[in-house]
Amino acid sequence: NASKKQKSSGPNYEIGLPDAIDGKVVTRFPPEPSGYLHIGHAKAALLNEYFAKKYHGKLIVRFDDTNPSKENVEFQDAILEDVALLGIKPDVVTYTSDYMDHIHDLCIEMIKSGQAYADDTEVEQMRAERNEGIPSRYRERPAEESLAIFAEMDKGSDLGLKNCIRAKISYENPNKALRDPVIYRCNLLPHHRTGTKYKAYPTYDFACPIVDSLEGVTHALRTTEYRDRNPMYQWMLKAMNLRKVHVWEFSRMNFVRTLLSKRKLTALVDHGLVWGWDDPRFPTVRGVRRRGMTIDALQQYIISQGPSKNILTLDWTSFWATNKKIIDPNAPRHTAVAEEGLVKATLTNGPEAVYTKERLKHKKNPSLGNRNVVYSRDVLIEQADASALKKDEEVTLMDWGNAFVKEITRDESGKVTALKLELHLEGDFKKTEKKVTWLADTHDKVLADLVDFDYLITKDKLEEDDDYKEFLTPQTEFHTSVFADNAVKDLKKGDIVQIERKGYFIVDTPFDGNGITFFNIPDGKTVNRYGSKN
Ligand code: ATP
Ligand code: MG
Ligand code: MG
Repeated sequence: NASKKQKSSGPNYEIGLPDAIDGKVVTRFPPEPSGYLHIGHAKAALLNEYFAKKYHGKLIVRFDDTNPSKENVEFQDAILEDVALLGIKPDVVTYTSDYMDHIHDLCIEMIKSGQAYADDTEVEQMRAERNEGIPSRYRERPAEESLAIFAEMDKGSDLGLKNCIRAKISYENPNKALRDPVIYRCNLLPHHRTGTKYKAYPTYDFACPIVDSLEGVTHALRTTEYRDRNPMYQWMLKAMNLRKVHVWEFSRMNFVRTLLSKRKLTALVDHGLVWGWDDPRFPTVRGVRRRGMTIDALQQYIISQGPSKNILTLDWTSFWATNKKIIDPNAPRHTAVAEEGLVKATLTNGPEAVYTKERLKHKKNPSLGNRNVVYSRDVLIEQADASALKKDEEVTLMDWGNAFVKEITRDESGKVTALKLELHLEGDFKKTEKKVTWLADTHDKVLADLVDFDYLITKDKLEEDDDYKEFLTPQTEFHTSVFADNAVKDLKKGDIVQIERKGYFIVDTPFDGNGITFFNIPDGKTVNRYGSKN
């Protein structure tokens, strides 16, 4: 039903696939095992899975693995894990490299039928000729000659290495993608699945339509920047008398100040500019997850983008806002105060002895249970809060009650060094202007490292010919030492909490006897301290 509105209960795109027959639709997600999945890939994967489900069809995850220069087993395994992380269950996992013999046979057929030829034109010259619409001098060479050269390519001989096979489509078509594209080239590097069995590999432009057709794909989803290459895709199917496949376009996802290309992400990993593929600053599935993005929110966000064909540069605000809505109802509350400049406040009429009281972990969600809050006569208050206090003012100690400021001691620089407060628990917290975070000054408070991050890239929208290395943010990692309530000791890696007045955080390293590390989770709203919106 094309006019159905999107419901909050789940994905419901307004656009379906053309000629989709219920029970017969086959889609595929074709990652190259040359890096970990990023959120752009996640969009492709989720869309393919969505249509397969919608039409009660089949989803293939197919490794597009015919370039040994970029691919390896680590990436292959990581992608399968990432697909599972996204909650996607493919009906089958396949490998283009399993079709090497079949693809090879089809290349021979293409040469025999005069639709492909061997060419040893230098790369630069070939590029210039294609650009200017000049035919290769080998375009009309006899099939026997090309076949003999293709055999040399199979051996990886010196002669073979100089050559490639090109499809004979056109040398002057206004669509330059159609100007005799390369369909086979040599590569002597061992392949992670087939070893050194093959020395010549099909290009994506050749292998993809073949394998789509052989695997029964009915609808091939491709991003719009492949548009110029779609006629080539259809040409290939026709040239080899293969079953027709629908190409359905969707838009590539881009984000401000973000690299979404495996090649560039690989470079950052290889140059040690990030901690690894799961770096919390990375737009990989693992990176955003480690930063506190939930898989539910990721799915929701991508689905809310729908099948639009407009290429937008998205800003991260709504990405994280989607997440906030999901984490907020279940994030237990904790308290922490910044270590630097911490002020000890004595409550002159405070409790004689330290005591604890059970409090809800989340006032609006009692199902999360209780935590113990420690009360004591001496409490710790952040310098920022302490400096703002005025003598005799009535303020509210968060979740305790009101107090009068009795005495403020400052050093020469004006920094507050000590406070005396008098509890006034009958006071109305609605009437005070200042709400002060405090923590009992007892031995069991926990040292915590709050880590916040900035974008890796300084420029909103990198252009094609921009060198990203010139736009790297000099400092992207920021640490704040705080003391936190001792209930944080029970938190496990990946737990998400809200620290009062500081925001949402995910535990990256749980309490180890000395401290605990939290990463700040952007909430799509706060402008962070570096001046950039999260
Ligand atoms: P990258 O440059 O990041 O490696 P790619 O297209 O070369 O991207 P593949 O592994 O070949 O990477 O892509 C697998 C699928 O994901 C393809 O269908 C591709 O079109 C899609 N895809 C890749 N990047 C994006 C993106 N930013 N937005 C939407 N889909 C994407
Ligand atoms: Mg690719
Ligand atoms: Mg790419």
